[in-house]
Amino acid sequence: MSKLRDKSETGVGMVLIFFVLVLAVIFVALGLKVASRQGPALVLNKSPKGLGIKTELVVEASDAKHNVKALAVEVVQAGQVVHQARIDFTARPHRWWKFWPGPASTAEWTVPVGREVIPGLKEGRATVRILALNDSWGRFFRGGRNEVVLELPVRFAPPQLGVLTSQHYINHGGCDMVLFTVSPGTTESGVQVGPYFFPSFSVKESMPETRLCVFAYPYNVDPSVIARVVARDDVGNETLANFTYRVFPKKFHTDTITLTDDFMNRVVPPILGQTPEMRDEGSLLKNFLEVNGQLREIDAQRLVELSKHTASTFLWKEPFVRLPSKTEASFADYRTYTYNGEVVDHQTHLGFDLAGLEHMPVRASNDGIVVLAGFFGIFGNAVVIDHGCGIQSLYGHMSSIAVKEGDHVKREQEIGRSGQTGLAGGDHLHLTMLLDGIPVNPIEWWDPHWIHDRIQAKLQPYQ
Ligand SMILES: [Zn+2]
Repeated sequence: MSKLRDKSETGVGMVLIFFVLVLAVIFVALGLKVASRQGPALVLNKSPKGLGIKTELVVEASDAKHNVKALAVEVVQAGQVVHQARIDFTARPHRWWKFWPGPASTAEWTVPVGREVIPGLKEGRATVRILALNDSWGRFFRGGRNEVVLELPVRFAPPQLGVLTSQHYINHGGCDMVLFTVSPGTTESGVQVGPYFFPSFSVKESMPETRLCVFAYPYNVDPSVIARVVARDDVGNETLANFTYRVFPKKFHTDTITLTDDFMNRVVPPILGQTPEMRDEGSLLKNFLEVNGQLREIDAQRLVELSKHTASTFLWKEPFVRLPSKTEASFADYRTYTYNGEVVDHQTHLGFDLAGLEHMPVRASNDGIVVLAGFFGIFGNAVVIDHGCGIQSLYGHMSSIAVKEGDHVKREQEIGRSGQTGLAGGDHLHLTMLLDGIPVNPIEWWDPHWIHDRIQAKLQPYQ
């Protein structure tokens, strides 16, 4: 009997010890959780060199275990808090039982900290404190926190801008060039035309503050939109300058294209086959419309990306050459597409269609560097040549390509043969002139007088 009682007493004791241990583990874990200070990791995506009139911080907070609860910024000058801003995130519910890393939480915040939002900000120095909080039980239920402190100069003197060229005549859809000077410390300058920013380049390496900027009035920008020269410094100060110009409106052609099953059957499947991002929409017409709309748009975006790899000087000396051939379509023709007598689409043709003999040699318009050579969406087999300072030329629908990316090509060098790959109704060369990836009228670049007056004569004093 006594042996049995002993056994049960030992059993009760064991259970008690077990519960005490479990409680101890829970208390220790909770204690650790509550005492934890660990907050979200903080990264500044746009690290400012100082504070100016329009400075912005781009703060990114990430937390592997908890939700990012809030971000705050504080600007302190001479011991006084001159500005405070905070953003709270409504996040997923807090999971109190979680001790293991959960789905990561990230938050990005663009917060202005320039004089535009802090009228009391003074030139000199300032302390910027950036704070991130998570929703953990850390710091006795106030949440884990992390802080980044920046000591920055405060400057308001905007860059100085002086326009050097006096006359600018721009054809709607075409280009011109403006020269200007900027003060040292300017980090970005160019011409803004509506939503388009055309960056400038130095006229020569030894004169980084004397800038040239080829700019355009794209065919889809209203000619009454104001163009201005813009200069920005590294702390977000900006200067705008007016310059004298005149835009000549232009009436673009209209054209109707009658779609046939034969044509669509010939062009659409090869494009879909070579474009993994496009999927079969189930009908020939739907697939054509996807290619003509969606893929055209994707290609346009890719050209803007390609333009960022431009050389910082002009790589050419003579006017651009037009392939001797018949013009079948010109720049900014507004096309209406009909199928079985019904209007099914509208698009703008942003280049020249030049037709000659079948498989005629395609020649580089000017000296440059090949930045694309291969299958390229609606343009089929295509080549893009960079001529420097944002100017590029595109050759489409080729049957064969004789160059590769990175090749230096000479004016009139054969780069391949014409064909009808991509969205082409027959053997021809499609040529697009691009400025910063935006199609512009190539006629100007083929015209020796235009090249002389708008480009070469203006650069003469700096050669
Ligand atoms: Zn074309």
